[in-house]
Amino acid sequence: MIETCPRCSTRLGAPLRSGRQVCANCGWSTAPLKTKSSDTPISKPAQSTPGRILQLVGRIVGRVVRYVRAWLGQQWATLRQHRPQPKAQTGQLMQGLADRLSALEKSIPEDVTARTWLTAEQAFQKLGGDLQNPDSVIQTSDGVTTVNFTRFRGLNSEEAYAAFGLEMNRSRRQSNKAWLRLK
Ligand SMILES: [Zn+2]
Repeated sequence: MIETCPRCSTRLGAPLRSGRQVCANCGWSTAPLKTKSSDTPISKPAQSTPGRILQLVGRIVGRVVRYVRAWLGQQWATLRQHRPQPKAQTGQLMQGLADRLSALEKSIPEDVTARTWLTAEQAFQKLGGDLQNPDSVIQTSDGVTTVNFTRFRGLNSEEAYAAFGLEMNRSRRQSNKAWLRLK
């Protein structure tokens, strides 16, 4: 692009769409700019290499898709051939799941759950008490004192619950949340 007219030195505007620059003052004009013809030899290989790579990638993707589809078809056919009766399979699945869950339960150490907050009922049972039996009692950690559930629930100090190895949270108790936990 030329800044000024070579004939009258008037400042030239932007080139026309065709690429020609025309001087508004004297009518001088350039030959059509050779952007297209001069760019082509340079850009052709630059365009064609990514193009070829794209084509190649396209073919590879196509091949992978065909391969996966064929493989899936094969798997599906095998699955259908060897599939046991649906009920038996569901039963096996459930059994397997139950076994795994059971193994998972056993793998979780008990003391992880021991620190969760308990209601008075839960704490009483945790310490060996039987809620169904009004005569059932639990012992303080030192074995000196025994209490039934009614007395246990009515204890009103941190120390009293500490004697059972329990931590008491007064504000949780007042807001009716589970309020005892093992120390
Ligand atoms: Zn001019």
